[in-house]
Amino acid sequence: MKPASFRYHAPKTVDEAVALLAEVAADDGRVLAGGQSLVPTMAFRLAKPAHLVDINGVAALNRLTVANGKLVIGACVRHAAFHKPVCDGPLGKLLTDVVHHIAHYPIRNRGTICGSLAHAHPASEWCLVLAALDGEVLAKSARGERVIAARDFFKGIMTTALADDELLVEARLPMLSADTRAGFYEFNRRAGDFALTMALGIYRVEGGKIVEPRVAIGGAEVKPRRIAEAERALAGAVPGDAAFRAAATAATAAIDPMEDIINTAEFRRDLVLAVTRRALERAAA
Ligand SMILES: Cc1cc2nc3c(=O)[nH]c(=O)nc-3n(C[C@H](O)[C@H](O)[C@H](O)COP(=O)(O)OP(=O)(O)OC[C@H]3O[C@@H](n4cnc5c(N)ncnc54)[C@H](O)[C@@H]3O)c2cc1C
Repeated sequence: MKPASFRYHAPKTVDEAVALLAEVAADDGRVLAGGQSLVPTMAFRLAKPAHLVDINGVAALNRLTVANGKLVIGACVRHAAFHKPVCDGPLGKLLTDVVHHIAHYPIRNRGTICGSLAHAHPASEWCLVLAALDGEVLAKSARGERVIAARDFFKGIMTTALADDELLVEARLPMLSADTRAGFYEFNRRAGDFALTMALGIYRVEGGKIVEPRVAIGGAEVKPRRIAEAERALAGAVPGDAAFRAAATAATAAIDPMEDIINTAEFRRDLVLAVTRRALERAAA
């Protein structure tokens, strides 16, 4: 099928892009970034935006920098930028581990990190990373700009705090200290598919004990989130099988899994047990 007709806009600056959004948002105007989620839904006519504001020509959105202890990822930075570490230390390595689980090479060459965040698929790897690290996004509209913390950004399945006329300008992730250990694990039936469930485990070790643990789960619930119960099970424990199993068991008890026509909630709950333990084992490796 071909998409329904729409008007195409190609701004060259962020100000032009937000001015256009202010004009067309009420008339179902949408941002076009990598097009890897939006264009297929338009082709199936599940989405019929009247206007597309294509941000790919806005050079200022193509920046990837470290500033004030944060990795700043502009709205046009593609998934493929992370095929090699983009920054020193555990954050660069973690993002490279994660990116290879996203779709397939051609999709990673076009799709953007910020597009994934705006799209907010429950099983988006980048959404999990933003939630796990308590990252933030910068949103801009003709009304002004605001910083939205990850915990306030994700609202539900493909639903975020962004208003229709807001452009997600950049995502910011805190840099991780050199002694941070991080591990990611996801389960899907075929390589390149969206994961059924995934986990990210992050911690440091001081005096042989786990400090500052973070455990986040994606794909199992309507949005990714840190699981406080699992983090409490890790805090102060000696890193190893017993602690990792305790954290995984706590995560399993804490989540409220989705179900679909193929996967029951109980299956996803079982997966949480496995992916959490394996993510923590990878962090320790
Ligand atoms: C076969 C296939 C497999 C996939 N597998 C995975 C996977 O395993 N994991 C995964 O995470 N993703 C997967 N994806 C999705 C892919 O990662 C997309 O690139 C991503 O979801 C959206 O990014 P995009 O830049 O293509 O956004 P687009 O498709 O251009 O836009 C998506 C939505 O976000 C909005 N939007 C985009 N950018 C902005 C912005 N800067 N400000 C405001 N709104 C914005 C658009 O208006 C639209 O509503 C898959 C896609 C396909 C086709």
